[in-house]
Amino acid sequence: MKNVTHWINGAPAEGAGRTSEIFNPATGEVSGQVHLASVAEVDAAVAAAAAAYPAWRDSSLVKRSQVLFRFRELMYANRDELARLISEEHGKVHSDALGEVARGLEVVEFACGIPHLLKGGFSEGVSTRVDSYSIRQPLGVVAGITPFNFPAMVPMWMFPIAIASGNTFVLKPSERDPSASLLIAALWKEAGLPDGVFNVVQGDKVAVDRLLEHPEVRAISFVGSTPIAKYVYETGTSHGKRVQALGGAKNHMLVLPDADLDLVADAAVSAGFGSAGERCMAISVVLAVDPIGDELVDKIVSRVSALTIGPGDNPASEMGPLVTEVHRDKVASYLDLGVSEGAKLVVDGRETPVLGGSTAAGTPGFWLGPTVLDHVPAGSRVHREEIFGPVLSIVRVSSYEEGVKLINDGEFGNGTALFTNDGGAARRFQNEVEVGMIGINVPIPVPMAFYSFGGWKASLFGDTHVHGTEGVHFYTRGKVVTSRWLDPSHGGVNLGFPTNK
Ligand code: NAD
Repeated sequence: MKNVTHWINGAPAEGAGRTSEIFNPATGEVSGQVHLASVAEVDAAVAAAAAAYPAWRDSSLVKRSQVLFRFRELMYANRDELARLISEEHGKVHSDALGEVARGLEVVEFACGIPHLLKGGFSEGVSTRVDSYSIRQPLGVVAGITPFNFPAMVPMWMFPIAIASGNTFVLKPSERDPSASLLIAALWKEAGLPDGVFNVVQGDKVAVDRLLEHPEVRAISFVGSTPIAKYVYETGTSHGKRVQALGGAKNHMLVLPDADLDLVADAAVSAGFGSAGERCMAISVVLAVDPIGDELVDKIVSRVSALTIGPGDNPASEMGPLVTEVHRDKVASYLDLGVSEGAKLVVDGRETPVLGGSTAAGTPGFWLGPTVLDHVPAGSRVHREEIFGPVLSIVRVSSYEEGVKLINDGEFGNGTALFTNDGGAARRFQNEVEVGMIGINVPIPVPMAFYSFGGWKASLFGDTHVHGTEGVHFYTRGKVVTSRWLDPSHGGVNLGFPTNK
């Protein structure tokens, strides 16, 4: 049985109190326990980060980027082990777990360029013998609170840039798949990161609440569901912290009649069912503009029927189980709800065969196969609510305008995609749609590390998106220095407001 501890001041740290079970979602069996931090344990991690901060802040940019380069190489060398840990606790297939490690590493690679990213501006002679320059400085101790669905990538949206900028970091990963965080911590140490710069507290609401109110924590990055994101934003800011809190999603794919329907069907199935739909950028609604609906649904259904569902460690599996029994049951409840709301269940994921088992409903573990609901009524709960599982809804619409209105009327604004061969329509869509990340013939438009990731509306609370230059700004504060080196003939006392001469 695994025993997943905290990581404080460069070493594993046992918790003294509560624990929670970790499951293998493919079998439903308990595989270990994770410690749930008390207030005192969070305080110990923050104290270690605070003690490490002055020396790390004062270390040279070149030294920091050298540590990042070594960390990048170690993470790359250990990517298979990291993917294995993710797969056995989250359930996603090994190749998908490798994919999230690769996308996270791109942020580390971006952060290796920190000497360039922190360059300020310099203006010589803004007034007589007066120069001005801008600098950006770290904040101090910063914290990251992350969801279960990307146990490596989402933390890696945060800590590479925070640490490269000179901050020290406390990570509070999801208690459902916590093991990746400890391997990452050990690799930081091996890379030469000083003890206390990167710490991990395992835990739940108790740990989160302590981080939100701890006076030493200067900034919080959060990724998770919308109600908790809103709570974290409101509580953290009321304690004077800088907060970026990314929430849930309900991503629509709008398909115009001129689109290549084979490309669309491939994209909808990949983006709808990859990682069992447990991605904040998953496509969960296809808006099919008349008259293509029937033809598109046929193409989607034939592809879905060919998918192989099985345990994440079986190379033949294309889609694994859901993360917990409670979550699987919640997702599965939307099948009957959809039918009661008037939708047609064209593929029932409860009946999907599982490799090594029977049907999804009859196999131990947290299984639900890919499900397709057609003719989902616009505005129904299945259409509007975040399901976060392998359920693809098809909503029939009569025009581009009706489709855009449905997207813009939704609560969330994380990602969306338009499929068309019409450049004018694409240009109009990117301008009119109220969503933060847009794909044009690209189903999961996750920005590269050198752009910033984040949604609009209930998908983001706060002003800054993560990684890219917005990430660098989030983890640093600006100063402007105005300096004058005196000439022997200075002008004496002057009580007037400084003006340019
Ligand atoms: P969650 O909100 O349940 O948990 C996220 C984090 O908050 C975890 O670390 C958890 O321990 C903590 N937490 C949970 N309940 C809490 C409470 N009552 N008080 C304080 N802290 C609490 O989310 P999840 O189920 O782990 O992840 C799935 C959600 O994350 C989905 O809604 C998904 O859309 C969202 N997500 C969003 C993005 C994005 O970029 N916008 C990315 C990934 C996931």
